[in-house]
Formats: sequence, C-alpha cells, structure tokens
Amino acid sequence: MSLPKIIVGRVPPGAVAWVPVPDLIVVRERRFASRRSLIAHELQHVIQHNVYGWMFYVHYVWGWVTAGFSYRRNWMERDARLAEGDPEMLEWADQLIERFESSSV
Ligand SMILES: [Zn+2]
Repeated sequence: MSLPKIIVGRVPPGAVAWVPVPDLIVVRERRFASRRSLIAHELQHVIQHNVYGWMFYVHYVWGWVTAGFSYRRNWMERDARLAEGDPEMLEWADQLIERFESSSV
C-alpha cells in the first residue's frame, strides 16, 4: 500500500476532509492537516480504498443507503471513527502530518 499524501483542496459540501482516491487525503484548509484524529480517520478510508478498490465507492454509497441515508451510521464512517483513537493509526497520521508540514513551508 502506497503512503498517501495530504493536500489542501476542494472537499464535498459540509466536509473538512476526504479521500477521493486511495493515495490522497484532501483537507479543506491548511489547519485541518495537523488534526491527528482527523488524519487517522481519513487514513482508515485510505485502507478501505485499498481493500475494496473501485468497489469502495459502491460500498460507501450502499453503506449510506442502508444506514437510512445517515453519514454517521454508515459502517464505513463508524469504521473510520474507530481509527481516530487507535495509537497505531495516530502514529501513522503523525508521519503524514510531519511530511505535509515539512513539504509546504
Ligand atoms: Zn469519514
């Protein structure tokens, strides 16, 4: 699995970050790039992308539909929320944040 990169860019309405493709975490504003728990959350979506390939999008939409069109209850979001407190994921997030900060001074 390739190491994803954090960039600042456009995100869907209401979101602060998203993972449009497996190796890219897009944050709405620079300041969001240093939020460890947010980056750990997005890293879990990176893992989901790697596990499901293009089916990621199908699973995501289907997860949303079967959760009663709820963003929060979508199992893929629940899965990502668990990563927010996972020490290993936070450590990985720190590495990406460090890279982001050293590459964009
Ligand atoms: Zn999410």
